[in-house]
Amino acid sequence: MSLANKYRPKTFDEMIWQEHIIDILKAQMKSRDVVHHNYLLFWPRWTWKTTSARLIAKALNCLNLQDWNPCNHCANCELINNWTSLDYVEIDAASHTWVDNIREEIIDKASYPPTTLSKKIYVIDEVHMLSKWAFNALLKTIEEPKGNVCFIFATTEIHKVPDTIISRCQVFNYKKVPDNAMVSHLENICKQENLKYTESALKIISNISEWCVRDAVKYVDQVSILWDLNEENVARFLWVAWESLIKETLQDIKTWDREKIFSKLDNIWWQGIDLSQFAKQTIGYLDQHLLEDTDFYLRCSEIFWDIISTIKRYPYPIVAYKIAINKYLNGNNTESTSKPVIEKKIISEEKKNDWKKEEPQKIEEQKPEIKQDSEKKAENTPQENKPNDHKDYSWNFKELWNNVLEKMNKPTAQTHLKDEAIIEKKEGNILEITVITSLAKVLLNNEDNKKVLEKLLSDELGENITMNITFIKKEEYFAQKMWL
Ligand SMILES: [Zn+2]
Repeated sequence: MSLANKYRPKTFDEMIWQEHIIDILKAQMKSRDVVHHNYLLFWPRWTWKTTSARLIAKALNCLNLQDWNPCNHCANCELINNWTSLDYVEIDAASHTWVDNIREEIIDKASYPPTTLSKKIYVIDEVHMLSKWAFNALLKTIEEPKGNVCFIFATTEIHKVPDTIISRCQVFNYKKVPDNAMVSHLENICKQENLKYTESALKIISNISEWCVRDAVKYVDQVSILWDLNEENVARFLWVAWESLIKETLQDIKTWDREKIFSKLDNIWWQGIDLSQFAKQTIGYLDQHLLEDTDFYLRCSEIFWDIISTIKRYPYPIVAYKIAINKYLNGNNTESTSKPVIEKKIISEEKKNDWKKEEPQKIEEQKPEIKQDSEKKAENTPQENKPNDHKDYSWNFKELWNNVLEKMNKPTAQTHLKDEAIIEKKEGNILEITVITSLAKVLLNNEDNKKVLEKLLSDELGENITMNITFIKKEEYFAQKMWL
């Protein structure tokens, strides 16, 4: 059995770093007769999704709860574990068959009482993929909760789930597992499996698994074949870099010594390290250590984003590194070389105003205000609050943002800013933008990026736009949205 399966959580208590959810679930199990919730499980990143849904399903049906955890041995737990009861249904909404058949397969059948279990459970994974029609059909079912039917929805993109569904569910935000908790979890596994390990090696694994426990355990499993999880083995087996190598590389870049930097890069390349992964690891490192050398690390973030976005264009990834670093080294002597080129491109590019055409009236309404504001330029502060702006333009803001990012001509920035930076409202010529990840924050705090985006937004809206950026953690952001 793989370690990932062996250490898959079988009780609530085994879900690491999710105490905020465990406490609520256990409290609900204690007062079992009042449990008539539907659940919406939200993950910032794919992890133990169906596992967690199954845990709740088992606990709701378990005949012999152990400290309010499912026992995993009673008849009902077994039925769910083996997936042999018709009362327990797991559906992947990403599959179109289910979307089409939602009425026949779920809604009609949900009205019959359970036959083998005490509660009928429908788990719908990737629920945000359901069509509007399917959501409406579901809504009617969950609006009239029955004591013996429970829906458990799971999603990685809660912003795509309609508010009407969210407001009728108990929402659980699963947290990313930070390095410390992840490393101690992996340590426990290594001890139980009699594996030799070093803490720094486990830290690398935590880092490349991007806070996802399942992936981290999978990596431990892969390297465990060598029985010794040290930095060298982890690096060799997973083709990744160890932290001191990343640090050294950054120090070399700081010397501006082209020969030294390029020879270091060649060295990394010949060691067989996966250079795409190396760029990602470096960005992770920069983000974690941003305060140690903020200006330099922000510039480095930009270099490595450049590398990630161009690396696939070259048959040898090392070339992407050398070009990006060379550009940076040249830029230090003659300001930024890339900026004039980008601006030229923006001016020459044909405007895409499709989003304007669809709602022409609203744009015109804005115009008198626009002129006034553009005269006042950047130091302008909004004169009046227009609470309705948000609602009226929310549909357009998304389109506006996507159009602008497309024109920015930076695929990586586009990918990360698309859903991780949100235009909240426009007040005068100020666009209020919320960023919900630290990577998006780094990208938008970069002066060059900011200038380019403000220029593009100004072109689209026909006035001098200033972006006002607020950072808020993704989980908190969606939690706020949910209760608004
Ligand atoms: Zn049980």
